[in-house]
Amino acid sequence: MDVRKNYLNGQWIGANAGDEVITVVNPATGEALAQVATVSREQVKRAIDDAHAAFTSWRALPAKARADYLLAIGDQLNKRGDEIARLITQENGKPLAQSRGEVTMSVDHLRWFGEECRRAYGRVVPNQVPGKRNLVIKQPVGVVAAIAPWNFPLVLSVRKIAPALAAGCPTILKPASQTPLCNLAFAECCEAAKLPKGVLQVVNGSASMIAEEFLNNTLVKKITFTGSTEVGQKLIAGAARDVKKLSLELGGHAPVIVFDDAALNRAVEGVMLAKFRNTGQSCIAANRVYVQAGIHDRFVAAFVEKAKQLKTGNGLEGEQDVGAMVNEKGLTFALDQIEDARRRGAKVLCGGKRMNRPGFFLEPTVIIDVPPDASCMNEETFAPVAPITKFEREEDAIAAANSTRYGLSAYAFTTDLDRMFRVAERLEFGMIGINDGVPTTSNAPFGGMKHSGWGRELGIEGLDAFMETKHVSIGVIE
Ligand code: NAP
Repeated sequence: MDVRKNYLNGQWIGANAGDEVITVVNPATGEALAQVATVSREQVKRAIDDAHAAFTSWRALPAKARADYLLAIGDQLNKRGDEIARLITQENGKPLAQSRGEVTMSVDHLRWFGEECRRAYGRVVPNQVPGKRNLVIKQPVGVVAAIAPWNFPLVLSVRKIAPALAAGCPTILKPASQTPLCNLAFAECCEAAKLPKGVLQVVNGSASMIAEEFLNNTLVKKITFTGSTEVGQKLIAGAARDVKKLSLELGGHAPVIVFDDAALNRAVEGVMLAKFRNTGQSCIAANRVYVQAGIHDRFVAAFVEKAKQLKTGNGLEGEQDVGAMVNEKGLTFALDQIEDARRRGAKVLCGGKRMNRPGFFLEPTVIIDVPPDASCMNEETFAPVAPITKFEREEDAIAAANSTRYGLSAYAFTTDLDRMFRVAERLEFGMIGINDGVPTTSNAPFGGMKHSGWGRELGIEGLDAFMETKHVSIGVIE
Protein backbone atom coordinates (compact mmCIF):
# COMPACT_ATOMS: atom_id res chain seq x y z
CA MET A 1 0.00 0.00 0.00
CA ASP A 2 1.33 3.46 -0.97
CA VAL A 3 2.14 5.75 1.92
CA ARG A 4 0.60 9.21 1.27
CA LYS A 5 2.82 12.22 1.90
CA ASN A 6 2.44 15.36 3.97
CA TYR A 7 2.41 18.77 2.28
CA LEU A 8 5.20 20.88 3.75
CA ASN A 9 6.39 24.22 2.35
CA GLY A 10 5.21 23.40 -1.16
CA GLN A 11 6.76 19.91 -1.17
CA TRP A 12 5.26 16.44 -0.70
CA ILE A 13 7.30 14.76 2.03
CA GLY A 14 7.02 11.02 2.55
CA ALA A 15 7.86 8.73 5.45
CA ASN A 16 11.38 7.58 6.20
CA ALA A 17 11.95 3.86 6.67
CA GLY A 18 10.81 2.86 10.15
CA ASP A 19 8.62 5.96 10.72
CA GLU A 20 5.14 5.39 12.06
CA VAL A 21 2.33 5.61 9.53
CA ILE A 22 -1.39 6.22 9.98
CA THR A 23 -3.65 3.51 8.60
CA VAL A 24 -6.93 4.92 7.35
CA VAL A 25 -9.86 2.51 7.67
CA ASN A 26 -13.03 2.49 5.56
CA PRO A 27 -15.82 2.42 8.19
CA ALA A 28 -18.23 0.75 5.74
CA THR A 29 -16.00 -2.31 5.41
CA GLY A 30 -13.63 -2.15 8.36
CA GLU A 31 -10.79 -2.59 5.87
CA ALA A 32 -7.60 -0.54 5.51
CA LEU A 33 -7.98 2.08 2.81
CA ALA A 34 -4.63 3.89 2.77
CA GLN A 35 -1.58 4.75 4.80
CA VAL A 36 -0.31 8.24 5.55
CA ALA A 37 3.14 9.39 6.63
CA THR A 38 3.48 11.06 10.02
CA VAL A 39 5.62 14.11 10.79
CA SER A 40 8.29 14.45 13.46
CA ARG A 41 8.31 17.32 15.96
CA GLU A 42 11.26 18.78 14.04
CA GLN A 43 9.12 18.83 10.87
CA VAL A 44 6.28 20.60 12.69
CA LYS A 45 8.78 23.19 13.96
CA ARG A 46 10.13 23.66 10.43
CA ALA A 47 6.58 23.98 9.04
CA ILE A 48 5.95 26.79 11.53
CA ASP A 49 9.21 28.52 10.51
CA ASP A 50 8.25 28.20 6.86
CA ALA A 51 4.76 29.55 7.52
CA HIS A 52 6.31 32.48 9.36
CA ALA A 53 8.64 33.12 6.42
CA ALA A 54 5.64 33.08 4.05
CA PHE A 55 3.71 35.51 6.26
CA THR A 56 5.59 38.65 5.15
CA SER A 57 4.69 38.34 1.49
CA TRP A 58 1.26 36.74 1.98
CA ARG A 59 -0.01 39.52 4.23
CA ALA A 60 1.46 42.16 1.91
CA LEU A 61 -0.67 41.00 -1.02
CA PRO A 62 -3.68 43.19 -1.73
CA ALA A 63 -6.86 41.52 -0.50
CA LYS A 64 -7.97 41.10 -4.11
CA ALA A 65 -4.91 38.99 -4.90
CA ARG A 66 -5.53 36.74 -1.88
CA ALA A 67 -9.18 36.53 -2.95
CA ASP A 68 -8.12 35.37 -6.43
CA TYR A 69 -6.15 32.51 -4.85
CA LEU A 70 -9.15 31.46 -2.76
CA LEU A 71 -11.42 31.52 -5.79
CA ALA A 72 -8.87 29.48 -7.78
CA ILE A 73 -8.66 26.89 -4.96
CA GLY A 74 -12.45 26.74 -4.96
CA ASP A 75 -12.43 26.13 -8.72
CA GLN A 76 -9.92 23.29 -8.33
CA LEU A 77 -12.00 21.74 -5.57
CA ASN A 78 -15.13 22.04 -7.65
CA LYS A 79 -13.40 20.42 -10.64
CA ARG A 80 -12.42 17.44 -8.51
CA GLY A 81 -15.69 17.44 -6.56
CA ASP A 82 -16.88 13.94 -7.43
CA GLU A 83 -13.53 12.30 -6.76
CA ILE A 84 -13.00 14.12 -3.45
CA ALA A 85 -16.57 13.34 -2.37
CA ARG A 86 -15.84 9.63 -2.90
CA LEU A 87 -12.73 9.99 -0.77
CA ILE A 88 -14.79 11.57 2.05
CA THR A 89 -17.28 8.71 1.91
CA GLN A 90 -14.51 6.12 1.90
CA GLU A 91 -12.72 7.50 4.95
CA ASN A 92 -15.70 8.86 6.91
CA GLY A 93 -18.56 6.52 5.91
CA LYS A 94 -21.22 9.12 5.08
CA PRO A 95 -23.54 8.69 2.05
CA LEU A 96 -22.01 9.96 -1.19
CA ALA A 97 -24.66 12.64 -1.80
CA GLN A 98 -23.85 14.13 1.62
CA SER A 99 -20.12 14.10 0.81
CA ARG A 100 -20.92 15.92 -2.44
CA GLY A 101 -22.84 18.46 -0.35
CA GLU A 102 -19.81 18.86 1.89
CA VAL A 103 -17.59 19.64 -1.11
CA THR A 104 -20.15 22.14 -2.41
CA MET A 105 -20.28 23.90 0.94
CA SER A 106 -16.46 23.96 1.11
CA VAL A 107 -16.35 25.65 -2.30
CA ASP A 108 -18.92 28.17 -1.07
CA HIS A 109 -16.82 28.94 2.02
CA LEU A 110 -13.78 29.60 -0.20
CA ARG A 111 -15.80 31.89 -2.44
CA TRP A 112 -17.51 33.70 0.41
CA PHE A 113 -14.28 34.45 2.29
CA GLY A 114 -12.59 35.31 -1.03
CA GLU A 115 -15.25 37.96 -1.51
CA GLU A 116 -15.43 39.03 2.13
CA CYS A 117 -11.71 39.73 2.57
CA ARG A 118 -12.03 42.56 0.07
CA ARG A 119 -14.36 44.20 2.57
CA ALA A 120 -12.28 43.77 5.74
CA TYR A 121 -12.74 47.44 6.56
CA GLY A 122 -11.34 49.35 9.48
CA ARG A 123 -12.96 52.64 10.44
CA VAL A 124 -12.28 56.28 11.18
CA VAL A 125 -13.85 57.25 14.49
CA PRO A 126 -15.06 60.81 15.25
CA ASN A 127 -12.41 62.32 17.53
CA GLN A 128 -12.95 63.43 21.12
CA VAL A 129 -9.84 65.65 21.30
CA PRO A 130 -9.57 68.54 18.83
CA GLY A 131 -7.05 67.82 16.07
CA LYS A 132 -6.65 64.11 16.84
CA ARG A 133 -7.53 61.39 14.35
CA ASN A 134 -8.61 57.93 15.59
CA LEU A 135 -8.18 55.13 13.07
CA VAL A 136 -9.12 51.50 13.62
CA ILE A 137 -7.30 49.08 11.32
CA LYS A 138 -7.50 45.31 10.89
CA GLN A 139 -4.38 43.19 10.46
CA PRO A 140 -3.74 39.44 10.18
CA VAL A 141 -2.85 37.75 13.49
CA GLY A 142 0.06 35.79 11.99
CA VAL A 143 0.73 32.06 11.64
CA VAL A 144 -2.38 29.97 12.33
CA ALA A 145 -2.48 26.34 13.42
CA ALA A 146 -5.74 24.50 12.65
CA ILE A 147 -6.81 21.19 14.20
CA ALA A 148 -9.82 19.53 12.54
CA PRO A 149 -12.17 16.61 13.36
CA TRP A 150 -13.32 13.66 11.24
CA ASN A 151 -17.08 14.16 11.14
CA PHE A 152 -17.10 16.79 8.38
CA PRO A 153 -13.50 16.19 7.43
CA LEU A 154 -13.26 18.65 4.54
CA VAL A 155 -15.66 21.47 5.27
CA LEU A 156 -14.57 21.97 8.88
CA SER A 157 -10.94 22.29 7.74
CA VAL A 158 -11.91 24.73 4.98
CA ARG A 159 -14.02 26.71 7.48
CA LYS A 160 -10.72 27.54 9.21
CA ILE A 161 -8.30 27.71 6.28
CA ALA A 162 -10.40 29.94 4.00
CA PRO A 163 -10.86 32.84 6.47
CA ALA A 164 -7.30 32.52 7.82
CA LEU A 165 -5.81 32.74 4.33
CA ALA A 166 -8.25 35.51 3.41
CA ALA A 167 -7.13 37.52 6.43
CA GLY A 168 -3.46 37.09 5.42
CA CYS A 169 -2.45 34.26 7.79
CA PRO A 170 -0.41 31.25 6.57
CA THR A 171 -2.00 28.13 8.04
CA ILE A 172 -0.80 24.70 9.12
CA LEU A 173 -3.55 22.09 9.19
CA LYS A 174 -3.58 18.96 11.32
CA PRO A 175 -6.47 16.78 10.10
CA ALA A 176 -8.08 14.03 12.21
CA SER A 177 -6.17 10.75 11.90
CA GLN A 178 -9.32 8.98 10.67
CA THR A 179 -9.77 11.37 7.74
CA PRO A 180 -6.49 12.76 6.37
CA LEU A 181 -7.10 11.85 2.71
CA CYS A 182 -9.58 14.53 1.67
CA ASN A 183 -7.40 17.11 3.40
CA LEU A 184 -4.36 16.00 1.41
CA ALA A 185 -6.52 16.24 -1.73
CA PHE A 186 -7.40 19.79 -0.64
CA ALA A 187 -3.67 20.58 -0.39
CA GLU A 188 -3.33 19.32 -3.98
CA CYS A 189 -6.02 21.82 -4.97
CA CYS A 190 -4.01 24.60 -3.27
CA GLU A 191 -0.91 23.46 -5.15
CA ALA A 192 -2.82 23.38 -8.46
CA ALA A 193 -4.07 26.91 -7.73
CA LYS A 194 -0.40 27.93 -7.34
CA LEU A 195 -0.78 29.07 -3.75
CA PRO A 196 2.71 30.27 -2.69
CA LYS A 197 4.75 27.74 -0.72
CA GLY A 198 4.33 27.77 3.04
CA VAL A 199 0.90 29.45 2.95
CA LEU A 200 -0.96 26.16 3.49
CA GLN A 201 0.74 23.09 4.92
CA VAL A 202 -0.72 19.79 6.11
CA VAL A 203 0.82 17.76 8.93
CA ASN A 204 -0.45 14.32 9.92
CA GLY A 205 0.73 12.51 13.01
CA SER A 206 0.50 12.36 16.78
CA ALA A 207 -2.13 14.88 17.87
CA SER A 208 -0.61 15.52 21.29
CA MET A 209 2.92 16.03 19.93
CA ILE A 210 1.77 18.35 17.14
CA ALA A 211 -0.48 20.30 19.52
CA GLU A 212 2.38 20.64 22.01
CA GLU A 213 4.52 22.28 19.35
CA PHE A 214 1.65 24.53 18.22
CA LEU A 215 1.08 25.60 21.82
CA ASN A 216 4.70 26.20 22.75
CA ASN A 217 6.04 27.75 19.56
CA THR A 218 5.78 31.52 19.89
CA LEU A 219 5.60 31.96 16.10
CA VAL A 220 2.12 30.38 16.14
CA LYS A 221 -0.19 33.26 16.95
CA LYS A 222 -3.51 31.46 16.93
CA ILE A 223 -4.86 27.93 17.25
CA THR A 224 -8.26 27.18 15.79
CA PHE A 225 -9.74 23.86 16.87
CA THR A 226 -12.86 21.82 16.20
CA GLY A 227 -13.39 18.69 18.25
CA SER A 228 -14.36 17.45 21.66
CA THR A 229 -14.79 19.64 24.72
CA GLU A 230 -12.23 17.48 26.55
CA VAL A 231 -9.46 18.24 24.04
CA GLY A 232 -10.60 21.88 23.91
CA GLN A 233 -10.07 22.12 27.67
CA LYS A 234 -6.54 20.74 27.28
CA LEU A 235 -5.82 23.40 24.67
CA ILE A 236 -7.15 26.13 26.97
CA ALA A 237 -4.78 24.95 29.71
CA GLY A 238 -1.84 24.68 27.29
CA ALA A 239 -2.52 28.06 25.71
CA ALA A 240 -1.98 29.84 29.02
CA ARG A 241 1.81 29.50 28.79
CA ASP A 242 2.11 31.68 25.68
CA VAL A 243 -1.27 33.47 26.08
CA LYS A 244 -2.10 31.93 22.71
CA LYS A 245 -5.29 33.02 20.96
CA LEU A 246 -7.83 30.22 20.59
CA SER A 247 -11.00 29.65 18.62
CA LEU A 248 -12.80 26.55 19.88
CA GLU A 249 -15.71 24.74 18.22
CA LEU A 250 -16.48 22.00 20.74
CA GLY A 251 -19.16 19.47 21.58
CA GLY A 252 -22.91 19.98 21.52
CA HIS A 253 -26.12 18.48 22.85
CA ALA A 254 -28.80 20.13 20.76
CA PRO A 255 -32.38 20.15 22.01
CA VAL A 256 -35.34 20.29 19.62
CA ILE A 257 -38.70 21.61 20.79
CA VAL A 258 -41.76 20.72 18.73
CA PHE A 259 -44.76 22.79 19.81
CA ASP A 260 -48.44 21.87 19.41
CA ASP A 261 -48.80 24.61 16.81
CA ALA A 262 -45.97 23.29 14.59
CA ALA A 263 -46.67 22.30 10.99
CA LEU A 264 -46.43 18.53 11.48
CA ASN A 265 -44.78 17.57 8.18
CA ARG A 266 -42.28 20.42 8.36
CA ALA A 267 -41.38 19.45 11.94
CA VAL A 268 -40.93 15.77 11.06
CA GLU A 269 -38.76 16.62 8.03
CA GLY A 270 -36.73 19.14 10.02
CA VAL A 271 -36.04 16.78 12.93
CA MET A 272 -35.18 13.94 10.52
CA LEU A 273 -32.53 16.20 8.96
CA ALA A 274 -31.25 17.54 12.26
CA LYS A 275 -30.95 13.99 13.63
CA PHE A 276 -29.98 11.61 10.83
CA ARG A 277 -27.89 13.82 8.51
CA ASN A 278 -24.24 12.73 8.64
CA THR A 279 -25.33 9.50 10.37
CA GLY A 280 -26.09 11.56 13.47
CA GLN A 281 -22.39 12.40 13.83
CA SER A 282 -22.77 16.14 13.76
CA CYS A 283 -21.97 18.61 16.52
CA ILE A 284 -25.28 20.33 15.81
CA ALA A 285 -27.24 17.07 15.61
CA ALA A 286 -30.55 16.87 17.47
CA ASN A 287 -29.73 15.05 20.72
CA ARG A 288 -33.02 15.49 22.64
CA VAL A 289 -36.44 15.95 21.07
CA TYR A 290 -39.08 17.53 23.32
CA VAL A 291 -42.57 17.25 21.85
CA GLN A 292 -45.63 19.01 23.31
CA ALA A 293 -48.43 16.73 24.52
CA GLY A 294 -51.03 17.82 21.93
CA ILE A 295 -48.91 16.83 18.92
CA HIS A 296 -46.76 14.14 20.56
CA ASP A 297 -48.49 10.97 19.34
CA ARG A 298 -48.98 12.22 15.78
CA PHE A 299 -45.37 13.41 15.63
CA VAL A 300 -43.98 10.15 16.98
CA ALA A 301 -46.05 8.04 14.55
CA ALA A 302 -44.94 10.08 11.53
CA PHE A 303 -41.32 10.27 12.70
CA VAL A 304 -41.00 6.53 13.31
CA GLU A 305 -42.59 5.84 9.93
CA LYS A 306 -39.93 8.02 8.25
CA ALA A 307 -37.09 6.58 10.32
CA LYS A 308 -38.09 3.05 9.27
CA GLN A 309 -37.85 4.10 5.62
CA LEU A 310 -34.26 5.37 5.91
CA LYS A 311 -31.87 3.42 3.71
CA THR A 312 -28.73 2.52 5.63
CA GLY A 313 -25.64 1.09 3.99
CA ASN A 314 -22.27 1.65 2.35
CA GLY A 315 -22.29 5.29 1.29
CA LEU A 316 -20.77 4.43 -2.09
CA GLU A 317 -23.47 1.93 -3.01
CA GLY A 318 -26.82 3.24 -4.23
CA GLU A 319 -28.59 6.18 -2.63
CA GLN A 320 -28.20 5.78 1.12
CA ASP A 321 -29.72 8.09 3.73
CA VAL A 322 -27.53 6.87 6.59
CA GLY A 323 -23.99 5.54 6.32
CA ALA A 324 -21.51 3.76 8.55
CA MET A 325 -20.49 5.24 11.87
CA VAL A 326 -16.86 6.23 11.97
CA ASN A 327 -15.53 3.45 14.20
CA GLU A 328 -16.27 0.66 16.65
CA LYS A 329 -15.86 2.97 19.66
CA GLY A 330 -18.62 5.35 18.54
CA LEU A 331 -20.94 2.45 17.73
CA THR A 332 -20.40 0.77 21.11
CA PHE A 333 -21.00 4.06 22.93
CA ALA A 334 -24.32 4.53 21.09
CA LEU A 335 -25.43 0.95 21.84
CA ASP A 336 -24.61 1.51 25.51
CA GLN A 337 -26.71 4.69 25.51
CA ILE A 338 -29.67 2.84 23.96
CA GLU A 339 -29.37 0.10 26.58
CA ASP A 340 -29.10 2.66 29.37
CA ALA A 341 -32.30 4.42 28.19
CA ARG A 342 -34.12 1.07 27.95
CA ARG A 343 -33.05 0.15 31.48
CA ARG A 344 -34.48 3.46 32.72
CA GLY A 345 -37.90 2.74 31.22
CA ALA A 346 -37.69 4.19 27.71
CA LYS A 347 -39.23 2.32 24.74
CA VAL A 348 -37.29 1.64 21.56
CA LEU A 349 -39.79 2.06 18.70
CA CYS A 350 -37.42 1.27 15.87
CA GLY A 351 -33.79 0.27 15.35
CA GLY A 352 -31.64 -0.13 18.44
CA LYS A 353 -29.26 -2.75 17.11
CA ARG A 354 -25.98 -3.09 15.29
CA MET A 355 -26.53 -4.21 11.71
CA ASN A 356 -25.38 -7.69 10.87
CA ARG A 357 -22.78 -6.81 8.25
CA PRO A 358 -19.11 -5.76 8.10
CA GLY A 359 -18.26 -2.19 9.08
CA PHE A 360 -19.77 -0.02 11.80
CA PHE A 361 -23.51 0.24 11.11
CA LEU A 362 -26.25 1.10 13.60
CA GLU A 363 -29.93 0.86 12.69
CA PRO A 364 -31.59 4.31 12.75
CA THR A 365 -33.12 4.36 16.21
CA VAL A 366 -36.08 6.15 17.80
CA ILE A 367 -36.68 5.95 21.55
CA ILE A 368 -39.63 7.49 23.43
CA ASP A 369 -40.40 8.27 27.07
CA VAL A 370 -36.72 8.88 27.73
CA PRO A 371 -36.19 10.12 31.30
CA PRO A 372 -34.02 13.21 31.90
CA ASP A 373 -31.32 11.24 33.73
CA ALA A 374 -30.68 8.86 30.80
CA SER A 375 -27.15 9.09 29.43
CA CYS A 376 -28.39 10.11 25.96
CA MET A 377 -30.20 13.13 27.47
CA ASN A 378 -26.92 14.39 28.94
CA GLU A 379 -23.88 12.99 27.09
CA GLU A 380 -23.36 13.85 23.42
CA THR A 381 -24.86 11.10 21.23
CA PHE A 382 -22.79 10.97 18.05
CA ALA A 383 -25.04 8.45 16.31
CA PRO A 384 -28.38 8.00 14.47
CA VAL A 385 -30.33 7.74 17.72
CA ALA A 386 -33.33 10.01 18.40
CA PRO A 387 -34.59 10.21 22.02
CA ILE A 388 -38.06 11.76 22.24
CA THR A 389 -39.82 12.96 25.37
CA LYS A 390 -43.16 14.67 26.07
CA PHE A 391 -43.73 18.12 27.65
CA GLU A 392 -46.75 20.23 28.57
CA ARG A 393 -45.68 23.88 29.06
CA GLU A 394 -43.38 26.11 27.00
CA GLU A 395 -41.37 27.23 30.03
CA ASP A 396 -40.70 23.62 31.06
CA ALA A 397 -39.41 22.78 27.58
CA ILE A 398 -37.11 25.81 27.57
CA ALA A 399 -35.78 24.98 31.03
CA ALA A 400 -35.14 21.36 30.00
CA ALA A 401 -33.51 22.46 26.74
CA ASN A 402 -31.15 24.82 28.60
CA SER A 403 -30.25 22.27 31.28
CA THR A 404 -26.96 21.22 29.66
CA ARG A 405 -23.35 22.31 29.88
CA TYR A 406 -23.40 22.65 26.08
CA GLY A 407 -24.65 25.64 24.09
CA LEU A 408 -24.00 25.01 20.42
CA SER A 409 -27.33 24.72 18.60
CA ALA A 410 -31.02 24.33 19.39
CA TYR A 411 -34.15 23.95 17.28
CA ALA A 412 -37.81 24.86 17.63
CA PHE A 413 -40.77 24.09 15.41
CA THR A 414 -43.73 26.45 15.73
CA THR A 415 -45.99 28.60 13.56
CA ASP A 416 -46.58 31.20 16.30
CA LEU A 417 -44.54 34.29 15.41
CA ASP A 418 -44.45 35.60 18.96
CA ARG A 419 -43.23 32.25 20.22
CA MET A 420 -40.49 32.07 17.55
CA PHE A 421 -38.85 35.21 18.90
CA ARG A 422 -39.52 34.41 22.55
CA VAL A 423 -38.00 30.95 22.31
CA ALA A 424 -35.05 32.04 20.13
CA GLU A 425 -34.17 34.71 22.69
CA ARG A 426 -34.44 32.42 25.71
CA LEU A 427 -32.52 29.39 24.41
CA GLU A 428 -28.88 29.53 25.56
CA PHE A 429 -27.27 28.36 22.34
CA GLY A 430 -25.14 30.00 19.65
CA MET A 431 -27.32 28.85 16.77
CA ILE A 432 -31.09 28.52 16.75
CA GLY A 433 -32.96 26.82 13.92
CA ILE A 434 -36.61 27.87 13.85
CA ASN A 435 -38.48 25.53 11.51
CA ASP A 436 -35.00 24.81 10.12
CA GLY A 437 -33.04 21.59 10.64
CA VAL A 438 -29.76 22.84 9.14
CA PRO A 439 -28.90 26.34 10.39
CA THR A 440 -25.45 26.49 8.74
CA THR A 441 -24.46 28.88 5.97
CA SER A 442 -21.22 30.59 4.86
CA ASN A 443 -22.56 34.08 5.55
CA ALA A 444 -23.74 33.70 9.18
CA PRO A 445 -21.78 32.97 12.37
CA PHE A 446 -21.40 29.37 13.55
CA GLY A 447 -20.36 28.49 17.08
CA GLY A 448 -21.38 27.90 20.64
CA MET A 449 -21.77 29.17 24.19
CA LYS A 450 -20.85 27.49 27.49
CA HIS A 451 -18.83 24.26 27.02
CA SER A 452 -19.41 24.37 23.26
CA GLY A 453 -16.57 26.76 22.72
CA TRP A 454 -15.13 30.20 22.15
CA GLY A 455 -15.60 32.44 19.15
CA ARG A 456 -17.43 31.97 15.87
CA GLU A 457 -16.62 30.61 12.44
CA LEU A 458 -18.24 31.74 9.17
CA GLY A 459 -19.94 35.09 8.64
CA ILE A 460 -17.97 38.29 9.08
CA GLU A 461 -17.10 36.99 12.57
CA GLY A 462 -15.24 34.09 10.94
CA LEU A 463 -12.87 36.46 9.17
CA ASP A 464 -12.50 38.77 12.16
CA ALA A 465 -11.30 35.76 14.20
CA PHE A 466 -8.00 35.88 12.27
CA MET A 467 -7.41 39.61 12.55
CA GLU A 468 -6.07 41.92 15.20
CA THR A 469 -7.87 45.19 15.75
CA LYS A 470 -5.41 48.07 16.06
CA HIS A 471 -6.15 51.63 17.10
CA VAL A 472 -3.90 54.26 15.51
CA SER A 473 -4.25 57.61 17.26
CA ILE A 474 -2.77 60.54 15.33
CA GLY A 475 -2.15 63.81 17.12
CA VAL A 476 -1.49 67.20 15.57
CA ILE A 477 2.06 67.72 14.35
CA GLU A 478 2.51 71.21 15.80
P1 NAP B 1 -11.41 14.93 19.14
O1 NAP B 1 -11.05 13.61 19.64
O2 NAP B 1 -11.36 16.09 20.06
O3 NAP B 1 -10.49 15.17 17.87
C1 NAP B 1 -10.53 16.35 17.10
C2 NAP B 1 -9.14 16.68 16.62
O4 NAP B 1 -8.30 16.92 17.74
C3 NAP B 1 -8.47 15.57 15.81
O5 NAP B 1 -7.67 16.14 14.81
C4 NAP B 1 -7.61 14.88 16.86
O6 NAP B 1 -6.49 14.22 16.32
C5 NAP B 1 -7.16 16.10 17.66
N1 NAP B 1 -6.67 15.78 19.01
C6 NAP B 1 -6.83 14.65 19.72
N2 NAP B 1 -6.18 14.77 20.91
C7 NAP B 1 -5.60 15.99 20.93
C8 NAP B 1 -4.80 16.70 21.87
N3 NAP B 1 -4.47 16.18 23.04
N4 NAP B 1 -4.41 17.95 21.55
C9 NAP B 1 -4.76 18.50 20.39
N5 NAP B 1 -5.49 17.88 19.44
C10 NAP B 1 -5.93 16.64 19.72
O7 NAP B 1 -12.89 14.97 18.55
P2 NAP B 1 -13.53 14.00 17.49
O8 NAP B 1 -13.96 12.76 18.16
O9 NAP B 1 -12.65 13.87 16.30
O10 NAP B 1 -14.78 14.87 17.01
C11 NAP B 1 -15.99 14.80 17.64
C12 NAP B 1 -16.20 15.99 18.54
O11 NAP B 1 -16.04 17.20 17.81
C13 NAP B 1 -17.60 16.03 19.07
O12 NAP B 1 -17.60 16.39 20.42
C14 NAP B 1 -18.25 17.12 18.24
O13 NAP B 1 -19.37 17.72 18.84
C15 NAP B 1 -17.13 18.06 18.05
N6 NAP B 1 -17.41 18.91 16.89
C16 NAP B 1 -17.69 20.23 17.12
C17 NAP B 1 -18.00 21.05 16.05
C18 NAP B 1 -18.31 22.51 16.27
O14 NAP B 1 -18.31 23.24 15.30
N7 NAP B 1 -18.56 22.97 17.47
C19 NAP B 1 -18.00 20.54 14.76
C20 NAP B 1 -17.73 19.19 14.59
C21 NAP B 1 -17.41 18.40 15.66
P3 NAP B 1 -6.47 12.63 16.11
O15 NAP B 1 -7.57 12.34 15.17
O16 NAP B 1 -5.13 12.38 15.51
O17 NAP B 1 -6.65 12.03 17.46
